[in-house]
Amino acid sequence: MTDAEVLIVGAGITGAALALALADAGVPVALLDRATPPPLPRAGQALDVRVSAIHAAAAGWLMRLGAWDLIPPACRAPFGRIEVWDASSVGRIGFDSADIGAPWLGHIVENRALVAALHARLSQLPSARLLAPAEWDDWQVEAGGVRLRLADGRQLTTRLLVGADGGASPLRLRAGIAAIDEPFRQCALVCHVATERPHGDTARQRFLPTGPLAFLPLADGRSSIVWSTTPAEAQRLAALPADEFARELGAAFGERLGAIGAVGERAVIALCGREAARYVGPRLALAGDAAHVVHPLAGLGANLGLGDAAQLAAAVRDALRAGRDPGQDHLLRAYERTRRSQDLPVVRAIVGLHRLFTTKAPPLRVLRGAGLRAVDFAAPLKHLFTTAACGLDDPAFVPQSAATSG
Ligand SMILES: Cc1cc2nc3c(=O)[nH]c(=O)nc-3n(C[C@H](O)[C@H](O)[C@H](O)COP(=O)(O)OP(=O)(O)OC[C@H]3O[C@@H](n4cnc5c(N)ncnc54)[C@H](O)[C@@H]3O)c2cc1C
Repeated sequence: MTDAEVLIVGAGITGAALALALADAGVPVALLDRATPPPLPRAGQALDVRVSAIHAAAAGWLMRLGAWDLIPPACRAPFGRIEVWDASSVGRIGFDSADIGAPWLGHIVENRALVAALHARLSQLPSARLLAPAEWDDWQVEAGGVRLRLADGRQLTTRLLVGADGGASPLRLRAGIAAIDEPFRQCALVCHVATERPHGDTARQRFLPTGPLAFLPLADGRSSIVWSTTPAEAQRLAALPADEFARELGAAFGERLGAIGAVGERAVIALCGREAARYVGPRLALAGDAAHVVHPLAGLGANLGLGDAAQLAAAVRDALRAGRDPGQDHLLRAYERTRRSQDLPVVRAIVGLHRLFTTKAPPLRVLRGAGLRAVDFAAPLKHLFTTAACGLDDPAFVPQSAATSG
């Protein structure tokens, strides 16, 4: 008899979503985090600086789990169009939800509100148990399960341990699973700004020689910016007086939304790419940033983590319904195969895009400009990209998706 069928370390977007999907299916699950999860934002509370573009497929899955509607409307904004263009060539491309007959492509969501909503829904389900704040000390694989010791001396047993503990993943390190790093040598400066012209529910990104600059639409009419650039430049921009920063930002964005008005709190985040050599070990599975960290230029990191969570939850649920052990090797290997075939091409495409757009080689700049324009004019290719932007190419989000089986 174990304390929980599944024990998840890390109660961020990935871990909380996985716990919710399992608890929603009646699976006994424990969720552990060293930090207490945030409460739902109060009405009128200032929007946190960290937001994510959550695509339509992931949002649909969260709706089915009953978490989406708990996100306060002020903390989520739909976008129906994506515009991308290159500052150093003629390349530009636009994706519209109308091209695939969808009402929207995704939502820009405050990370804190998303995590809070997942926990609010989770707290309504009897088979979920939250341990936070709590730290683990060590764990051992035993016959039929895993025994995890907490820093306060308590012990928990489970049949499957999941690391959803972020890019640094102490659990992955303890399991001896190596990771390959892609040093982008970039930081992202993030903040919310007012703009002279309305954002029109459109997510925009301009590729500058130093990295991409994104303007993401917020519910209150402002835009959230993610400005990826060299670490020194990010620090310089963060230290500028607000009016000078606004001028530089407007110029860097080609004044696409007119002059920049009020500038909110600025934060600088170091960026790196990382891919774990394995997603699984004996009675262990990795999910979300613990398994793969991607550059924010495609707005996909959290979406990939939600896909991992959806896939793993379906596999565990189906195994238990069939009377099988959810920590079996073949089930975990099937999870790894399925998710790596989904995640890896995305991870590699993002690294390739980042290199292509930061190259100084003139022939490549001409090529990428021509490439963007060619895709913009080729309806079938555009349809393919728009479908991917919505996450509709990720089978993990298909309702009642068949679980992985060995
Ligand atoms: C600037 C920026 C913009 C981004 N924009 C987008 C976007 O538009 N769309 C998108 O999809 N993605 C985006 N991402 C990526 C996205 O933010 C991440 O992929 C996502 O937040 C990862 O969630 P996670 O739950 O896997 O990990 P984390 O959010 O890192 O959560 C890990 C959790 O584990 C806990 N933890 C860690 N160690 C321990 C321990 N030892 N014991 C107990 N608990 C522990 C932590 O407290 C934390 O709660 C962006 C990232 C950046 C940097």
